[in-house]
Amino acid sequence: MADLVFEAPAVKKKSPIHLADLTVAERKAKAEELGVPAFRTNQLAVHYFTHHNDNVESFTDIPKELQAKLADAFLPKLITLVRSISCDGGKTRKDLWRLHDGVLVESVLMRYTDRTTVCISSQAGCGMNCPFCATGQAGLTRNLTAGEITAQVVMAAKACDLGELPGGPTRLSNVVFMGMGEPMANYAAVMQSIRNITNPQPNGLGISARSITLSTVGLVNGIEKLIDEDIPVTLAISLHTPDDELRDTLVPINSRWKVKEVLSAADKYERKTGRRYSIEYALIRDINDQAWRADLLGRLLKNRNAHVNLIPLNPTPGSKWTASRAEDERAFVEILEGYGVAVTVRDTRGREIDGACGQLAAIEQKAGK
Ligand code: SAH
Repeated sequence: MADLVFEAPAVKKKSPIHLADLTVAERKAKAEELGVPAFRTNQLAVHYFTHHNDNVESFTDIPKELQAKLADAFLPKLITLVRSISCDGGKTRKDLWRLHDGVLVESVLMRYTDRTTVCISSQAGCGMNCPFCATGQAGLTRNLTAGEITAQVVMAAKACDLGELPGGPTRLSNVVFMGMGEPMANYAAVMQSIRNITNPQPNGLGISARSITLSTVGLVNGIEKLIDEDIPVTLAISLHTPDDELRDTLVPINSRWKVKEVLSAADKYERKTGRRYSIEYALIRDINDQAWRADLLGRLLKNRNAHVNLIPLNPTPGSKWTASRAEDERAFVEILEGYGVAVTVRDTRGREIDGACGQLAAIEQKAGK
């Protein structure tokens, strides 16, 4: 437990407040404080959330003399692109962003035939210390603000509008919290960003809660709070093994909340929302991929409304662990299916660019940039 970090280190310099950090009522109150009519915040929201534009100078419906004041108060630049790398013929793109204090985070945009998904970060680094995860190795730098989380989605939506991925312009349809960080450890900011993503236009991006996946190591207190919200996102639990003994090592927070407690919290969420949840399971050769573990997992899940996502391990630099053999992966799938458990092997989109595992930010930090 000593290694787990719940409290983010104090921020050195607070991130500027952005429209996306405020509720609709707070936006209006702030405008009035500034002596600006409240309806101006609606205009800003349309530009930002509907047109994915934060360049106030281009807003022809805002008088010139108000532009700088509104830009400062509501649309400060929160994230700046450092670099992008693409693979899969350009259909997967990883973006590295610099925040106002120099901190780096990454997001990954993936275009499929039927949807376009952005995988976003909720923290810079992570305090959960899972030994197979690149982000976990670097520790937690700080929480992101709601504005910084939302900005990754808005920038992805803009890239879709502009047709930056092959196949022409498209609509951003899905958001997954599977980039850097543990979303449940930055609960309030993550919830505010989810409101921004789901609120209908003009006050949000109008993406349905069902198209958002919140992935967690299993912070039961966070799952319970989520049960009380009326936002039926898809919940994903990073289980990685069905037995507490190994999970204490693979997902150290397991020393606080055991497998059974995490699953029963997920069940409660499922009963409240009617949403099937996902079990994330990174298959690690000879560590968690044995037939007996598949059997134990099958028995645990056979009467639950859960879907297993098997992820071939993406080895982190210097790690002794690697992905499972093809035959072990196949056997694992078959055993689960034998229990009637829904299972898919996740495609390894972005593997060449170390998608979604904190590796680009780690490399950049080492290079001292
Ligand atoms: N902290 C959250 C969300 C971020 S990680 C969580 O743990 O759920 C998103 C998913 O990627 C998690 O299921 C995580 O366990 C998995 N992951 C992390 N490192 C990985 C690696 N090296 N190979 C495969 N999956 C990995």
